[in-house]
Amino acid sequence: MNTLALAIVVALVADFLLQSTADYLNVRHSRLPVPRVLEGLYDTSTRDKAVQHLAASTNVSLMERAVLLIALLAFWFLGGFDYMDVVVRGYLPETVTRGLVYVGLLALGYGMLGIPFDAYRTFVVEQRFGLNRTTFRTFVSDRLKGVVVAAAIGTPLLAALLLLFTHMPDIAWLLCWVVVVLFSIGVQFVAPAIILPWFNRFEPMQDGGLRDAILDYARGVGFALEKVFVMDGSKRSTKGNAFFTGFGKHRRIALYDTLVESHPADEIVAVLAHEVGHYRRRHLLKGLALGAVHNGVLLFLLSLLLDQPALYESFLISTPSVYAGLLCFSVLLSPLEVAISLALNAVTRHHEFEADAFAVDTAPDRLSLSNALRRLSVGHLANPNPHPVFVAVNYSHPPLAQRLEAIEARAAAQP
Ligand SMILES: [Zn+2]
Repeated sequence: MNTLALAIVVALVADFLLQSTADYLNVRHSRLPVPRVLEGLYDTSTRDKAVQHLAASTNVSLMERAVLLIALLAFWFLGGFDYMDVVVRGYLPETVTRGLVYVGLLALGYGMLGIPFDAYRTFVVEQRFGLNRTTFRTFVSDRLKGVVVAAAIGTPLLAALLLLFTHMPDIAWLLCWVVVVLFSIGVQFVAPAIILPWFNRFEPMQDGGLRDAILDYARGVGFALEKVFVMDGSKRSTKGNAFFTGFGKHRRIALYDTLVESHPADEIVAVLAHEVGHYRRRHLLKGLALGAVHNGVLLFLLSLLLDQPALYESFLISTPSVYAGLLCFSVLLSPLEVAISLALNAVTRHHEFEADAFAVDTAPDRLSLSNALRRLSVGHLANPNPHPVFVAVNYSHPPLAQRLEAIEARAAAQP
């Protein structure tokens, strides 16, 4: 094993230990008394359910993480990366096609390892706690559609990467960066029109008090909104949610049917106000810009590493190639990405506070959002007491108690 290989293994194991420690601390922390702002939110039996639900889903994640790490190390040190390369070389002499097949097969294999854990999570854990609505048929069709979408997006992107790094290695990272940025903007347009309707049904909301309240609010804050859709979230889960899709004139709000059914109109308007807050504070654009910087740095690092023989030696690959280099790079990167996600999660948590503040300032009733979040969290069996380390590593949203404190303080400060 060369030094680079040893360093990567140490980083992968360190990543595993960090995440598992965060899991352990989080489960232990969930049993402590709840923060003051959440007192009375859960009755004793719901509280017990939330704690047990967390323990059960954490166990599945731990098992999954362990199995994926062991599978990766075994494949690697039994020479799997080189063996696969030799096999595809026998069939496909052309390097880009070979690269697509090589990366595609490995990604598919790795993805399939996660399916039993997904199934267990859905049909055993979520089912036991009454949160699951996914049928076996939906589960299978979701996985198949997921593969099709990943292939449709991944194939042209990977082909461009392989072509550019093969034929223009000096400036490939820069050209690839342009391609990736354009692509990620393009997906924002394609997703609401083509991808999302493939997974869920979107129906225009029927005329009535709720629709009027939503449109009144949008008009009041000068937010052009033409389309309000109800999405059949109940196809998979009892959990409620809402989101915006599309840009400019084509933007539309989608409310989960589970949200519409279980919340009063003022709370739904407050949830909408939170989403409008994301728009007004330009969080989507900021997210795209951050993603662009992130991808640029990764592509530059990739260009530095691709012609290093040590990279291929450490993965026991006998014939260097762009596609094998790309794959090795992605393995090397995974522990590094954990460090990056710490920063990105901190940014999105900050955005959530900003969107909450916008909702408090503009919704007809300044405490509606707080009520909506309370109701949502009980419905989701959310952990009332997550551990700060777990929050730093995994939470894209601030913990409920922190959000409620911020919302209630802001509401109280208003005249
Ligand atoms: Zn949000």
